Amino acid sequence: TKVIALLNQKGGVGKTTQATNVACWLHKQGFKVLLVDLDPQGSATEWSETRDSDDDFPVVSMGTKVARDLPRVAGGYDYVVLDGAPQIKDLAGPAVKAADLVLIPCQPSPFDIYSCATLVELIQARQEVTDGKPLAAFVVSRVIKNTHLSREVREALAEYELPIFDAHTTQRVAYADCAKGGSVMDLPETDKARQEIEALGREMLEMLN
Ligand code: ADP
Ligand code: MG
Repeated sequence: TKVIALLNQKGGVGKTTQATNVACWLHKQGFKVLLVDLDPQGSATEWSETRDSDDDFPVVSMGTKVARDLPRVAGGYDYVVLDGAPQIKDLAGPAVKAADLVLIPCQPSPFDIYSCATLVELIQARQEVTDGKPLAAFVVSRVIKNTHLSREVREALAEYELPIFDAHTTQRVAYADCAKGGSVMDLPETDKARQEIEALGREMLEMLN
């Protein structure tokens, strides 16, 4: 079982959007998937309750005891996707501990880039005592095409010395439409948002394997 955590202490950066869509992508690839909602606000749980699909994967919620509790339920799944919560100081540590790969969705804005510092430090401190686990990478989120910030964000993030995925999400209505149980993976293969999630999924598995 490989555990992929979408973490960022800031809210609204795309954690739930990337977590639910990537979970749908993994499921579509034929993997056994468990989605874990770490957010007390329960966005991923709500998403799954409104999802209209009988061929799907389970969503469970967990809190700060995720590092302890996850192994009890993760057996039998190929991939566990953790949807992180904002501003929960005690949650990032256990989530980083439980993860094989941490993805940090980050919007192309200076404030969002600065606010990743604590999480990056936490991950790097963990990597030092565990010989590099978890792997970690930034995923640029909600890119607005042809803006100078979108071009500069990679340069700014590079200062953190974590990899930055080529895959990213662009600001698109298709993602906003996912809130009520939808996924861009339900859209036609030619859909641009779907193709972004597919690229994200592939890059994620390349890093893990
Ligand atoms: P987080 O889980 O980090 O708080 P969400 O995934 O819930 O962030 O995203 C916050 C809001 O932004 C949601 O309303 C979501 O639909 C929207 N959103 C996220 N990513 C995109 C995107 N690439 N394009 C358009 N809207 C997006
Ligand atoms: Mg969320």
